Amino acid sequence: MQVISSIQAIKQSIKALIKENRSTIGFVPTMGALHEGHLSLVRQAKKENDTVVVSIFVNPLQFGKHEDFTRYPRTFGNDCNLLSQEGVDIVFNPSATEMYPDGFCTSVIPESLEDKLCGKSRPGHFRGVAVAVLKFFNLIQPDIAYFGQKDFQQTVVIKRTVSDLNVGVTIKVLPTIRDQHGLALSSRNAYLSETEKTDALCLYTALTRAKTLANMGTTDTGEILREMEKIITRCTSATIDYIAIVNPETLETVPKVQNGDVVALAVRMGKTRLIDNVTLILMIAFSCLIL
Ligand code: AMP
Repeated sequence: MQVISSIQAIKQSIKALIKENRSTIGFVPTMGALHEGHLSLVRQAKKENDTVVVSIFVNPLQFGKHEDFTRYPRTFGNDCNLLSQEGVDIVFNPSATEMYPDGFCTSVIPESLEDKLCGKSRPGHFRGVAVAVLKFFNLIQPDIAYFGQKDFQQTVVIKRTVSDLNVGVTIKVLPTIRDQHGLALSSRNAYLSETEKTDALCLYTALTRAKTLANMGTTDTGEILREMEKIITRCTSATIDYIAIVNPETLETVPKVQNGDVVALAVRMGKTRLIDNVTLILMIAFSCLIL
């Protein structure tokens, strides 16, 4: 496994791969502190491509001033061991100055998507994500890039950006990997105390309740959200940032649930902000599919 940290070296390696005729490149962007969620993306990339590149980059542009950039978990040695065991070909881990040298001033603004859901409490976050991911796409020239449904809004932003700017990469979104109790795996779960970790299960309980209600035919968004709020507010360490049911492409909130809408939430457990989401499948639509 090659570990590359300079832009010049990654360009050379990719050029050599293309010359060698290694026909497809799969790419998994990450911020490291890897867990089974990340590894599920890597494994899929391995299955579908000749070469797999994983980036590990804690991107300063996507953190707000008072967010956890400096204390974000960094476990580079262990990450490399895991990726090498998975048969990854290249790890790209540029420094912040390599990515954003003096004078860097270009942004990518996902206009109608960036101020919704997580964007409300994380202004600038999604442009930071879009810039880094687009830079990686330009450098790595992947055929397929893999993202987790866990970061739902990020997937919507990336798909939109790639489509709007005609970037030649296929975006694949893979399911959220959870622990045995339903808690979505996240590098930030490392911040949780044992009590907070147990309490954090209320996110999944609330999302599952929403899924069940929609399955049973409830389409009234207000009713579903109220039920979810009840479940989460019962949990003492939880503070709701938002819960919303939205169209999966525009992120506009919907008054009545339609098949495929997404219920997304962000909840603070103590000081740690967790996000999660599920796609709602209406029973009526499901029975039509079977017929
Ligand atoms: P991060 O390192 O948090 O930026 O995540 C890198 C990629 O892994 C993103 O596409 C995430 O959506 C994905 N990811 C993170 N957690 C999970 C999870 N629990 N299940 C599936 N994918 C995940």
